[in-house]
Amino acid sequence: MGGAIASDIHGKNHHVDGCFSEHVLHFTILTESGEIKKCSRDENADLFWPTMGGMGLTGIILTARFKLKKIETAYIRNEAIQAKNLDEIFTLFEESESWTYNVAWLDCLQRGKNSGKSIMLRGEHATLNELPQRLKKNALTPRKKFSFTVPFYFPSFALNPLTIKLFNWFFYHKQLKKHLKNYVDLDQFFYPLDAIQNWNKIYGKKGFIQYQFVIPKANGKEGMRQILETIAKSGNGSFLVVLKLFGRNNPLAYNAFPFEGYTLALDFKVNPKLPALVAALDGIVEKYGGRIYRTKDALSKASLTSYLKNIDSTKFNSLQNERINSSL
Ligand SMILES: Cc1cc2nc3c(=O)[nH]c(=O)nc-3n(C[C@H](O)[C@H](O)[C@H](O)COP(=O)(O)OP(=O)(O)OC[C@H]3O[C@@H](n4cnc5c(N)ncnc54)[C@H](O)[C@@H]3O)c2cc1C
Repeated sequence: MGGAIASDIHGKNHHVDGCFSEHVLHFTILTESGEIKKCSRDENADLFWPTMGGMGLTGIILTARFKLKKIETAYIRNEAIQAKNLDEIFTLFEESESWTYNVAWLDCLQRGKNSGKSIMLRGEHATLNELPQRLKKNALTPRKKFSFTVPFYFPSFALNPLTIKLFNWFFYHKQLKKHLKNYVDLDQFFYPLDAIQNWNKIYGKKGFIQYQFVIPKANGKEGMRQILETIAKSGNGSFLVVLKLFGRNNPLAYNAFPFEGYTLALDFKVNPKLPALVAALDGIVEKYGGRIYRTKDALSKASLTSYLKNIDSTKFNSLQNERINSSL
């Protein structure tokens, strides 16, 4: 929970429910001076808000109390819709704003008129009444599933544009209908990667970085087109590419990454050409008025991870600068 608060994490429901900070009632924190302080919206609010998304710089969070959502079943009413390109997926996002959860898996190696080829996944918590009969028994207990374990680190040549293209082809075509409707359990909907244990080993011993940016909704399509074209041209494919549309964020949570716009999250295998690619992507993000998620900023420009431009918070600024200087 400390990590979730420190990044002020977001989910597939940001456009409806906001960031994690919206659901935190209060926490206790051990500050630099050795004091333990209780913080909430009404008590020590000057520490409550900067801690949200503050990357642990304001102290060590010891306890936290937060609200959960009441659910009737461990299932999601899921719809998976194929989109041929960026125009189709952007339209689907705008049509799906009333759904609680929506996200798209995207094939980042497609170019030209196929750029943005993707699958929109949208969902709602299933009620007990609507659930098919066979799932009604023990409806709150997810079924045990088979999980595959990656036995060893893959050699670095294993993940290349060809294997990523093959994976993407299977992923897109694994559903036979353009528009699939079904019920899936919470793990399958929220944590599909966890079906493959030690999935990180697919990237080889050098590992991978995550990269995530958001660009304003108004410029979204054009910026996204340029970013995808740059990635596809570089051949640095990623098989885990996630596109989301954020809603407005609470302005009090000024350290949180999201603002109203399109966000793309990718994994890139570590390789010598990666810093140049990230620099090119950072340039496009900057040009379109976007920013980078601090939690995924391993190779990014520090200026793109400063969300504090209009905030008078001297102490927090100096802590932020210290962190940036030590990471340079
Ligand atoms: C596969 C994958 C998918 C992801 N998907 C998403 C996503 O959909 N949305 C999203 O928002 N993020 C996502 N993330 C990022 C992840 O949610 C964040 O990195 C999160 O902060 C990790 O929490 P952790 O507990 O592992 O923290 P750590 O990685 O251990 O730490 C993260 C930060 O939190 C600070 N921290 C940790 N504990 C405390 C504490 N007790 N007190 C104060 N500071 C503390 C650390 O100093 C550090 O700055 C994803 C990451 C991965 C690997």
